[in-house]
Amino acid sequence: MSTKAYGAYAADKPLEPIAIERRPVGAHDVAIAIAYCGVCHSDLHQVRGEWNGTLYPCVPGHEIVGHVTAVGDQVSKFSVGDVVGVGCMVDSCQSCASCDEGLEQYCEKGFIGTYNGATNDAPGHTMGGYAQAIVVKDDFVLKVSHAPEQLAAVAPLLCAGITTWSPLRHWNVGPGKTVGIVGIGGLGHMGVKLAHALGAHVVAFTTSEAKRQDALDLGADAVVVSRNADEMAAYADKFDFILNTVAASHDLDAFTALLKRDGTMTLVGVPEHGHPAPNVAALIFRRRAIAGSLIGGIAETQEMLDFCAEKGITAEIEMIAAQDIDAAYARMQKSDVKYRFVIDNATLTD
Ligand code: NAP
Ligand code: ZN
Repeated sequence: MSTKAYGAYAADKPLEPIAIERRPVGAHDVAIAIAYCGVCHSDLHQVRGEWNGTLYPCVPGHEIVGHVTAVGDQVSKFSVGDVVGVGCMVDSCQSCASCDEGLEQYCEKGFIGTYNGATNDAPGHTMGGYAQAIVVKDDFVLKVSHAPEQLAAVAPLLCAGITTWSPLRHWNVGPGKTVGIVGIGGLGHMGVKLAHALGAHVVAFTTSEAKRQDALDLGADAVVVSRNADEMAAYADKFDFILNTVAASHDLDAFTALLKRDGTMTLVGVPEHGHPAPNVAALIFRRRAIAGSLIGGIAETQEMLDFCAEKGITAEIEMIAAQDIDAAYARMQKSDVKYRFVIDNATLTD
């Protein structure tokens, strides 16, 4: 099936219309007409070659929502017309210890990414959600139960939502815990919403003075402009957990100093250039930890989607046409996104 898509032929080329081929629907496949696709900073890192190993042409997009248009004859969980989502993974070995525990993102053989992953389908690597349609193995398709009019704002939950939900849950964020969310972009604004909904005391850290009121409106109990040393000092030794979503290299010590004894700061941002090495004394004298976390498993993604549907949680979005993706990337690089761009995939037909 030929599908209209948007992608780039090289790191220094703008995104442009590309016709791609989707495989025929196999026995365990679900074919999806994509309604909306969120724009993650990972899309920008990948398509611009900021991470090693980008395969071109590159069609990004891993915050996919749409409607089922066909299912294979072995598919029992989905029917034509269902509202569904696809996140960052479209396959994994499904037999290693991690997959057995529902942690496909840590598949020991390596999960297959929604784009830039190995596949037998032409041209040999996966192509993502900046496209009219996609064909995905049923085990990697999620059910969406939000109201129909919320669908565009649900798309970012498939990456920004789960990437913040998974560490918040793993590190037991909830009532009685003081939690910091660093970087109020696509991931960070979901981190604030989810940590608040889980009942924690939430402090948002931003470099953008202009996001101060927004962060409170998103559910933060307090906001710190992290460039202001006095504001930072007031929070020394206060946090049980800090989730750091910053997409650029920065000084981690400024944040580890804010952790209590035994506190953890988990990094989810994957900047092009590494962070300066952390101060060891700041870690050992309080038994503080710096950790990392990768997206989330399929079962916990479904858990997060259901939690958000029940609580009425969606992302704050700016809808764009496919033709505006490069302009959106330029704004994302300036931390000027409120708070996630979402592509209206109907514009791919123009
Ligand atoms: P985003 O929307 O661009 O948000 C990143 C935020 O980081 C910005 O809004 C800004 O917030 C802050 N920031 C940017 N540059 C900064 C700098 N030089 N110093 C301090 N703060 C800075 O990006 P995103 O889509 O949320 O993605 C964030 C990162 O997570 C990216 O690196 C992405 O690749 C990565 N990611 C990782 C996973 C995973 O599984 N681990 C999944 C998805 C994405 P303020 O304006 O509030 O300061
Ligand atoms: Zn993402």
